Amino acid sequence: MKKLIVFLLINLTSHAQTLPNYQKALGILDKAVKTTGKDAPNSITLTAKGTIHNLGHYETPEKTRDLPIEEIYAYFEKEQVNYLRSAMQNNGNSVVRSSITKADSMYYIGYYDRRIVATNNTQEFSFESAKTLPIKLLQLVYQHRQSLRHLGGDKTHDWLSFNYKPNNAVTLYINKKTFLLDKIEQLAYNDRYGDAIFTTEYKNYELLNGLQIPKNRTESEYGIVERELTYENIRFDTKPDTANFRLLWLPKTFRDRLATSTVNKDSLVVENIAPQLDLVKIVSQNNKVLVARFKDYVALFESPAGLGLNEQILQEIQKRYAPKPLRYVFVTHHHPDHAGGIRAFATMPVTLVTTQGNEAYFKKLLATTHTLGNKPSNAESPKLKMDFVPIEGQRSYKDEQMEVVAYEIGKATSHSNEHLAYYFPKQKLIWSGDLLFFRTDGKIYPAGGRGKSVYELIQNQKLAVDKIYTSWPLHGQTAFGTVEELKKAIDMK
Ligand SMILES: [Zn+2]
Repeated sequence: MKKLIVFLLINLTSHAQTLPNYQKALGILDKAVKTTGKDAPNSITLTAKGTIHNLGHYETPEKTRDLPIEEIYAYFEKEQVNYLRSAMQNNGNSVVRSSITKADSMYYIGYYDRRIVATNNTQEFSFESAKTLPIKLLQLVYQHRQSLRHLGGDKTHDWLSFNYKPNNAVTLYINKKTFLLDKIEQLAYNDRYGDAIFTTEYKNYELLNGLQIPKNRTESEYGIVERELTYENIRFDTKPDTANFRLLWLPKTFRDRLATSTVNKDSLVVENIAPQLDLVKIVSQNNKVLVARFKDYVALFESPAGLGLNEQILQEIQKRYAPKPLRYVFVTHHHPDHAGGIRAFATMPVTLVTTQGNEAYFKKLLATTHTLGNKPSNAESPKLKMDFVPIEGQRSYKDEQMEVVAYEIGKATSHSNEHLAYYFPKQKLIWSGDLLFFRTDGKIYPAGGRGKSVYELIQNQKLAVDKIYTSWPLHGQTAFGTVEELKKAIDMK
């Protein structure tokens, strides 16, 4: 027994965070989330009824009185709304407490102080609200996964730890057999009881609408059972409005905002610029990418940093060009604002067109894990292949509907050692990376080696060019430039 205790102590105290420890903990969390309800319904409402063993000022030490309690919990994921109403019966009086959050703002009324309080400090409430339903708690853990640790375990449970605010630690007991969350523990302090543990236990899980919901929840403080609740009246069809909840005490402006969805996305504007060529303006990131429509598939030009951004671009492509799949990603050069997002396509049957010198670096980017970003896991094996345009050479990609020729001109650009410019013969259009600027205010600055490299390409290859498009930046730039404008900039010294 002594040995076991020593072992446990070492196990509990020796965990500075390491990447393997984090990955192990995340693997267990992932499994728990999947088992508990990966695709939880957007709206969940339930009622909890039971007893509070109220530790009041009674006639003997630690005497408790049982008070009936009824709570309503509601969670609306897309709207980022959490609602908690708790009504306790005491001496024939009903005392009510209500809290509601919308994203980062919160309103509440306490049991005894009936003033409405508005605050932006929602950390504690987020935890309290998440604690009422295991899937919500697991989602909160996922949000704070940078603090996630695997502490060890025993025969029945894996112990994970996380914190939702500084200097605080919550331990999760994940059942090794069912992968369900059976218990959580939190270190707490009370000026009378001193250092103590608060626990929440979940029992008798039931599967409803793909979601594991416990029938019973028990809260204990200082080793004493504080409340026992039974869950009932579970619904998935409510809206965060006054019709469903008693929210009339809220300011009207806040009430009106409750039902609005709060998904933060980059704003993409798609614009057709030539036959089979669409420009995608990424307004929020001051950047642009190009989509070329081949007969049976589409190709993307440039993949600026941001997994979320590239997934959004991919969704836009799938929505707009279905059933044509994305089969090619062309990049001009290795800089982040042009190729930093290629990881988003790693597990797709996509060909990435670039130059040999980027191979090792791109392979590294493609193999990175992004669990701290917005990728849940990296379980899929890479499918993306790379195709290299020879240095100072060219390669054509064509079918009966579209042709693009990639020219390698890096040496001349004095921007990156390897650099591709893309020419569309049918559209008489060039797509270039960081080599040219065509300003809306008409000012022309000396084009230098960068601009010259494109001009020389046009001259040497005798390309017929009507329009020169650039990728970054978007703002302050005209839609496109012409060879004449480019010539002017080159002639400036
Ligand atoms: Zn660059």
